[in-house]
Amino acid sequence: MVKFNPHEAQEQSDGEYEAQIRPKEFTEFSGQEKIIDNLKVFVKAALLRGESLDHVLLHGPPGLGKTTLAHIIAHELGVGMKISSGPVLDKPGDLAGLLTNLESGDVLFIDEIHRLSPVVEEYLYSAMEDYKIDILLDKGPSARSIQIDLNPFTLVGATTRSGLLTSPLRARFGIQCHLEYYDAPVLFGIIQRSAAILNVGIDGHAGNEIALRSRGTPRIANALLRRVRDFAQVKGSGKIDLEITRYALEALNIDKHGLDQMDNKILSTIIHKFNGGPVGITTIATAVSEDPGTIEEVYEPFLIKEGFLQRTPRGREVTELAYKHLGAFRGKEEAALF
Ligand code: ADP
Repeated sequence: MVKFNPHEAQEQSDGEYEAQIRPKEFTEFSGQEKIIDNLKVFVKAALLRGESLDHVLLHGPPGLGKTTLAHIIAHELGVGMKISSGPVLDKPGDLAGLLTNLESGDVLFIDEIHRLSPVVEEYLYSAMEDYKIDILLDKGPSARSIQIDLNPFTLVGATTRSGLLTSPLRARFGIQCHLEYYDAPVLFGIIQRSAAILNVGIDGHAGNEIALRSRGTPRIANALLRRVRDFAQVKGSGKIDLEITRYALEALNIDKHGLDQMDNKILSTIIHKFNGGPVGITTIATAVSEDPGTIEEVYEPFLIKEGFLQRTPRGREVTELAYKHLGAFRGKEEAALF
């Protein structure tokens, strides 16, 4: 059976396809209205004053547009952008190399910023605050440090796990935006836009079906569109209609509500091992072998938004909808059946 997974979708969305459909300006970016409205004001104000934009922290689950927004910010400011990520920047020298190469006003985008090593993070503080860094020359007794002045720049940090950010780092971001999952109508618009750019015919019902099954995530919506297009070309007429969409989504084993494997594992674990809850997040995490913070920041928000899970003072509890979705019965009802 062919399996679709969003991590694979991330790889597939790279490259040529990605460059074509990634929104380049604020006007092309759908949804997240509040964030966009605010960013527009901050960018305009920075441009009017001729200053660099304050540092921006973007947090939220994967695939919601953090990297895209970083590109847009640089584009709207009319500046260059350098890109790196927390795990890659493991030595202060790497960071110093990046920072000293920034032109005045440039954007430095650091993805997965929660994964910076503490020593690199320490260096970042003075760079963010005073546009200066201290570089250590030589080792041992002759070691000395020199201070280098940097051009003013804007750091755009992205993280899926804002809870892991240290408070000194978080406090240095003047602008902080939390990206939310997208509603189906917004995803529908994104799918229509991508289809137009890719020159693929898609009807409204098909677009809607893909939107509903995309886990509130533009990256998944775009990846599904591409897979369904393959089916339409090979098994259908080339045009994407509801019939070929349903056929493709069935073949790809996509959940009716767009839930992924881990979402379903979390729900079925709470139902089958903990009688539907309430159960604590750490207990759930141990049972599904996932980090509690990842469950809390990446999986749980979507399950709550879609009404499958609720938080109670005593822990997490699944809803009726989760039982229905998994075709399960509550403990007592199940017993009554036998
Ligand atoms: P993240 O950095 O949050 O993981 P990305 O910025 O890489 O997510 O976005 C993933 C994909 O989704 C990109 O292909 C981008 O084109 C698309 N995308 C994200 N947000 C939007 C949006 N608001 N409107 C249109 N396309 C979007």
